[in-house]
Amino acid sequence: MLSLGIVGLPNVGKSSLFNALTAAKAEAANYPFCTIDPNVGVVNVPDPRLEKLAEIVNPERTVPAAVQFVDIAGLVKGASTGEGRGNAFLSNIRETDAIVHVVRCFDDDDVIHVDGSVDPVRDRATIEFELALADLSVVEKRLDKAKRAAKTGDKDAAAEVSSLEKAHKPLSDGQALWHVSLTAEDRERLKGLQLLTLKPILYAANVTDSELTGAEGKHVTALRAAIAADHEPAEVVTFSAKIEMELAELPPEDRKEFLASLGIESAGLDRLIRGGYSLLGLQTYFTAGEKEVRAWTIHKGDTAPKAAGVIHSDFEKGFIRAETVSYADFVAHNGWKGAREKGLARAEGKEYVMVDGDVVLFRFNV
Ligand code: GDP
Repeated sequence: MLSLGIVGLPNVGKSSLFNALTAAKAEAANYPFCTIDPNVGVVNVPDPRLEKLAEIVNPERTVPAAVQFVDIAGLVKGASTGEGRGNAFLSNIRETDAIVHVVRCFDDDDVIHVDGSVDPVRDRATIEFELALADLSVVEKRLDKAKRAAKTGDKDAAAEVSSLEKAHKPLSDGQALWHVSLTAEDRERLKGLQLLTLKPILYAANVTDSELTGAEGKHVTALRAAIAADHEPAEVVTFSAKIEMELAELPPEDRKEFLASLGIESAGLDRLIRGGYSLLGLQTYFTAGEKEVRAWTIHKGDTAPKAAGVIHSDFEKGFIRAETVSYADFVAHNGWKGAREKGLARAEGKEYVMVDGDVVLFRFNV
């Protein structure tokens, strides 16, 4: 499951967003851990294709893909130096795939900004600094160990020291690791540390609601320019926490109409999820049987066995072939039977590279 960690300064709209997310939450029974941990919310990935497939197959149950959001308490300036409290919060998001940085881009004199004014470019730098310092303490601890091991003649440890030192310099200057060019070997060696500033970032710009339909405001424009100037590998998604909260209070069947009445195409949550998929190069395939119609998340470029492995590792190990129909063919010919009759169900082997929307039936040895 795609997992996103939410960070941002206090008062930027994180809780509003997270509460809206959890109000729209996925079937809690499917994800028992999120009812235990108040900082974890699991939401369904909205995908109209899944509903269409369910209409055709009429299964016992329909299971959407899901995304996990992990919230940390507000990150304040100096968090990473203050008794390690900030670090403790940040450790909650070390295991996520990407970071959602909520930045305030709405003007509202009634909502105080911790740094006195609305300035997403400054806020971006503040958070980068805190994340870098949090990574620095992880790198320093590891570096101590690796250096000691290297002294005993351990070659792997010596290589690790060299990678860690490359990371150490920028981090101690408060710079994120995306500024540095690291080799594939460096990345491999640093992977286990789950460094925050090596994760892709999705900026969630909390804008004044009128900006969602009208021209983009100056704050978002400035934020985009700063990201582009630094060549930061990140995406920007706009949303309004205010509208998300209003949406969350409505029954699901009324949400579309509410958005349409405002002239907004999609909910912020949808855009966030789509942004996450695009940032991480993810795509979807479907299984469509009478018991269950279900969406699965894989990476672009994944082969059929890899895709099978997302269902169960045994499917990958014992993979024989994947009976595959494109989503369009499946819908046009009303399901498996029609598609097979037209010869549109292909038997794909181990080398097959999955296409977004493929409807698949795996054959495997157990
Ligand atoms: P957090 O500290 O980042 O979790 O921020 P909150 O979600 O608690 O929001 C802080 C304050 O800003 C609250 O009073 C919210 O109602 C308000 N707020 C959040 N999003 C918006 C927004 O999009 N527009 C306006 N005008 N106020 C917002």
